[in-house]
Amino acid sequence: MKERPRQPFVPPRRQDTVRQELTALLREEGLTAKELSGLVGISEKEVLEHLEHLRIALHGRLDMTPPRCLECGFSFQKRERLKKPGRCPVCRSERITDPSFTIR
Ligand SMILES: [Zn+2]
Repeated sequence: MKERPRQPFVPPRRQDTVRQELTALLREEGLTAKELSGLVGISEKEVLEHLEHLRIALHGRLDMTPPRCLECGFSFQKRERLKKPGRCPVCRSERITDPSFTIR
């Protein structure tokens, strides 16, 4: 009796391949999660998950240009999270630039 191997019709892309692509892109220039999402073809949420892994794997060589409020100029310098903040803590504006990432 033979069992057919269960395989998805389209095999998912390997996580490490995606990570290599992201690493290569980030070595070239600073990019936002949105830009990376478009370039690599995965969702922004997935990009952020990969970046979290890369940040650990690269031992701090992943640099983030902090997001900034377009209303009052507040810069989120101390922010640890990679996701863009929803609101400025100073003026409550939601007009905030996307953080961009690069690898040193
Ligand atoms: Zn503000």
